[in-house]
Amino acid sequence: MKPSSESAVAAKAALTVVAITFVAEAAIMEALAYFGYTQISLATALLDAAALSLVIAPPLYWLVLKPLRREFERRLEAEVMAQDMGRLAITDALTRIMNRRGITVSLLDAMAQSERYSAPLTVVMADIDHFKLVNDEYGHKAGDKVLAAAAGIFADALRMPDKVGRYGGEEFLMVLPHTTLAHGRKIAERIRAAAAAHKFDIGQKNVRLTVSLGLAQFRKGEDLEQLISRVDKALYEAKAGGRNLVATGKKR
Ligand code: GH3
Ligand code: MG
Ligand code: MG
Repeated sequence: MKPSSESAVAAKAALTVVAITFVAEAAIMEALAYFGYTQISLATALLDAAALSLVIAPPLYWLVLKPLRREFERRLEAEVMAQDMGRLAITDALTRIMNRRGITVSLLDAMAQSERYSAPLTVVMADIDHFKLVNDEYGHKAGDKVLAAAAGIFADALRMPDKVGRYGGEEFLMVLPHTTLAHGRKIAERIRAAAAAHKFDIGQKNVRLTVSLGLAQFRKGEDLEQLISRVDKALYEAKAGGRNLVATGKKR
């Protein structure tokens, strides 16, 4: 806290204590006098109250109010720091979207919800086509720029409560709660088209890239591994079909 605001707080606290003590003691003296217990005059009572409050106020502030305030601020800071650390642990530093751990937790949560409420859930895996060529031709930094831009395209295409995370190098996982396979296919198709239309700025120039997407609808009772495996197979199908495609893995 700044010294100026600290002294303002101290002055306010001291004034409050003075006022409260002052009024309280005057009231007590008045009451005692009214019932005939004391002969003290009102003026004396008020002076007493003033003197007493001036003695009580500073130690009360320094010993009670100030440490309390400091403790409150310390806890607030610790809480904010804990929140930041938690967020960092599930954020991908390059793309600023969720990392594999974050999106996996989101997926597990969505699976539990889908299981519990019998709501449809569709999962999409998107993989940039021939991404290695970007690195090879323009360098790793250009590749990093493409990854960040791709994450932006995916995130922009989704709405709450949909989630997207970077699952691996150039693979992105999207979790679409309350979404059937048919609906998910439309969303995936929209994302495919958006990526294909995008000019990826890699510094010296813009490049065109495409993505392949595989998707599957969650089946009650299946576990994470089984679901991801079906999504992976669908993605493989999109790649095998010539890339820049959306596939649902139905050909098995
Ligand atoms: P496909 O169409 O079959 O997906 O081909 P691809 O080239 O996209 O796939 P491949 O798996 O052969 O290459 C992926 C490349 O992604 C290889 C790896 O060096 C690169 N990569 C992974 N993580 C990063 C990263 O964080 N930054 C950059 N610049 N490149 C990365
Ligand atoms: Mg890949
Ligand atoms: Mg790829």
